[in-house]
Formats: sequence, C-alpha cells, structure tokens
Amino acid sequence: MTYEAVIGLEVHAQMLTDTKIFCGCSTRFGREPNSQTCQICIGMPGVLPVLNRKALEFAVRTGLATHCTISPYSRFARKNYFYPDLPKGYQISQYELPICEHGHVDIMVEGESKRIGITRIHMEEDAGKNIHEGAGAYSLVDLNRAGVPLMEIVSEPDIRSPQEAAEYMKRLRALLRYLGVCDGNMEQGSLRCDANVSVRPGGQKEFGTRAEIKNINSFRFVEKAIEYEIRRQIRVLEEGGSVVQETRLWDSSRGVTESMRSKEEAHDYRYFPEPDLVPIVVDPAWVEGIRASLPELPDAKQARFLSKYGLSVDDASQLTEEKAVAEWFEEVVRQGGRPKAAANWMMGELMRYLNEENKAIGECLIQPKQVAEMLKLMDNGTISGKIAKTVFEEMYRTGKDAPAIVKEKGLVQITDESAIEQAVDDIIAKSPKEVERYKAGEEKLLGFFVGQVMKATRGKANPQILNELVKKKLS
Ligand code: ADP
Ligand code: MG
Ligand code: ZN
Repeated sequence: MTYEAVIGLEVHAQMLTDTKIFCGCSTRFGREPNSQTCQICIGMPGVLPVLNRKALEFAVRTGLATHCTISPYSRFARKNYFYPDLPKGYQISQYELPICEHGHVDIMVEGESKRIGITRIHMEEDAGKNIHEGAGAYSLVDLNRAGVPLMEIVSEPDIRSPQEAAEYMKRLRALLRYLGVCDGNMEQGSLRCDANVSVRPGGQKEFGTRAEIKNINSFRFVEKAIEYEIRRQIRVLEEGGSVVQETRLWDSSRGVTESMRSKEEAHDYRYFPEPDLVPIVVDPAWVEGIRASLPELPDAKQARFLSKYGLSVDDASQLTEEKAVAEWFEEVVRQGGRPKAAANWMMGELMRYLNEENKAIGECLIQPKQVAEMLKLMDNGTISGKIAKTVFEEMYRTGKDAPAIVKEKGLVQITDESAIEQAVDDIIAKSPKEVERYKAGEEKLLGFFVGQVMKATRGKANPQILNELVKKKLS
C-alpha cells in the first residue's frame, strides 16, 4: 500500500513595526523583561486598544504580494483562553472576517512550478513569554512580546511532501523579507509555523484525519517534523489503528512528535467580535497605493534574471532569494562583470565566505565593483581562474582592489610560452617514471604534470597553454 501525505501550514510572522499592534510600546527584541509594556498590553481593565495603521498596511502588502483579495470590511475577534502569558484572558485576533483571503504562492518542486493556495491572512497580537528558570516553584512572565503584531498566514492543504513544505516556507520567508514586513528570523521566533499533517491511501479522494504539529522553529525542523509525522501516521494505519485528531509537539532533541492534547481536550475559544475596536474598512485607493509601491518580487526578479542575463534556473532562483544579494549581483553586472561569471563567483566563493562568518552580504568588505574588476582581469588574461581565487579571497579579507593585489603579490599570469615550456621541461626531466607510465597509456597522469608545473609557477601558468604544452611534449 502506498500513501500520500497532505499538509497545510499555519505560519506566524512577526511584523516589523516599531510599535505594538494596539499601543505605542516598542517591539524591540531582547530588552529587559517587562520594560516595554503599558496598561494596554499588560491587560489593565478599562483601557482601549487602537489599531496600528502600519500593521494593517503590512498585512495588506503581504496579501497583495500573495495574490489575495483584500477584504473591504474585516474585523477583530476575541479568542478566549487562560494562560499566564495572556493577561487579558483573551487574544485579539481575526476570525470570520480576516483582512486577506484566497491567495497563492508558487514554489519550485523538482524543476516544476507548483501553486500553493493561501486560505487567509489575518492580524493578531502575540502573547507574552513564560520563563521557567532554575528549580524554583514559580515561573516568571515577560510581557515585552505581548501585543507585538503578528500575521497568521494559513495555507490550503495543497502541500504533498516535507520538501514542498520547506520550499513553501523558504519562498514565503523570501517574500516577507522583500516586502520588509518581517525579518524572517526563525531562531528568534519572528517566523514560526504549525504543520497540519495527514496521510491517505494512494488514490483516495478524501483527506485523512490530521494532526497539528506545533513548535517548529527552523527550516530543517519543518522537514524533519513532517517526515517523522508522516511515518508515524502510516505506521498507525498499517498496524490497523486509526489516526486521532490531535495537537502534537515537535521535540527537536529527540526528533519525534508527541501528543499534547486530543480533539476532546481542544480549546473552545468562544470567539466573538472584539467590541473595543471598530471594524476595518479599507479605502480602495489606499490599497491601490500600496499595490503600486510593492517592490519587484522574487518571482518576477527571477524571471527577469533568466531572460535578461541568461542565467540557469538554479542561479536565478538562488540569487533572487535575498533582495540584497540580487541587487549586489546586478551591481557587479552594471560595473561590467559578465553575468554568468558574476553569478558563479557570488554563489560559489562569496557565499562560502559569508556563510563561514555567518555574515550578511551588506556586512562584507568586498564590493561589487571590485568583483567586476577581477572578472575583467580574468577575461583579458592577466590572471588565471586559479589565481583569481587567491585574489578573491584577499579582496574579501582586506577590501583591497584586484589590480593592487595582483601587483603586490606578483600574481600576473605567465602567458609567455617559452617560460612555461621551460617549467614543463624541468618537470619532465625530473619525473622519468611518470613519463614512462604516461607513455604506456596511463593518461590520467597528465594531471600530475600540469599540477607540478602549477606548483612550480605558484599557480601562475596559463592553464590552457600549459595543458597543450604538456600534451605536446609527452606525445
Ligand atoms: P484550525 O483552525 O483548527 O487549525 P483550519 O481549518 O483553519 O483548522 O485548518 C488549519 C490548517 O490545516 C490549514 O492550513 C489547512 O490547510 C490544514 N488542513 C485542513 N485539513 C487538513 C488535512 N486533512 N490534512 C492536512 N492539513 C489539513
Ligand atoms: Mg490551527
Ligand atoms: Zn503597551
């Protein structure tokens, strides 16, 4: 029996507003506990929330970028439950009338585009944070996060594998960062997701019973948690049991999901319209203004990179994942770097160095113009590709220009045939055994001779000339 997985994600994105959603408190992360609170966000009775216009704008921006319908009329609702990090005893959220509905995000799966439906996007406030420190018989509550604006982006159950789920998350994160509405930082919790997972026998139309997995806080865990859950549900079915609808928690240290509460224990939130906030009526002209201000988004940028620069789908998709990276690339090209070469050096060397140091592209010393200059030195034969790697590293470490490094370190490529010939002759004279083996048919020894000459010339011999000379001399 084969099974198919059905997955829907509920993604919570913390909005990048300066202040909270219903009061003027700062949203800054990592401050002294309870230093960023007021009567409104700590839930004092008798106070009135007022909607942060920026939060509404960010939700609308996200809705437009995901091809949603922006509701002309929407409103907030109270979601009632008791927990120490929720001082009011209810969370202000949206329920039957969310701000955005019926959108989609396109992802790439095995080279093909697939559309994932967005059911809805709604605004809500975050709760505070309970801190369980030491062995004391108490917990601490930090309300700095209470009232921080969130968007919940709910997908249709269109996702069919853990890889698609991770791809969808990545795509969504890229989009949110392009829009400047969320920093996408999963470690700090500004992007989190709950995964709804079910399985059904191949060919069956109806969905199976789903479990909702909470506490997923990295891309790797999106895949791992869903993978585990699919296997678990299949095992239950194979053993003749049935999957129960429940909420499960992902335990990343053990790599398993565990039951948290069943459907019977599920909260009854007793949603009702929030009486302290007026319904949201958006002016269509305001929405159109936001639409007009959207930046070029990853999909469009990728398509443009493909047609304008002739890049591969992989390169175009990687380069457009981050807006800052895409802009850096275009600057290299504007400064005269060949697009394909610029893409290779950026995706290869530059990303490797940045990853090693866990740096963003805006934080490095090397500049687009310098890469363009280095590419020109390669194109006009001043340096070989091998030497360019040394030059690139030096540029990255010091921020110096390529011509200066080449001059300083004496890295100009040797293209003088007689000089290279001399070096080849020396190596051949020193390696009679290898020459014999090569002549006996061991052709892979060509690499040995080339390597030895490169070593002797400190990588400066022009590789093409060198290769031809070695072949000629040994034939
Ligand atoms: P709730 O509010 O209880 O979380 P929703 O109906 O809003 O329930 O669904 C939440 C998520 O669950 C959505 O992303 C949806 O796509 C997904 N979902 C619904 N049914 C299934 C199913 N049978 N299998 C997997 N995911 C599902
Ligand atoms: Mg849910
Ligand atoms: Zn406040």
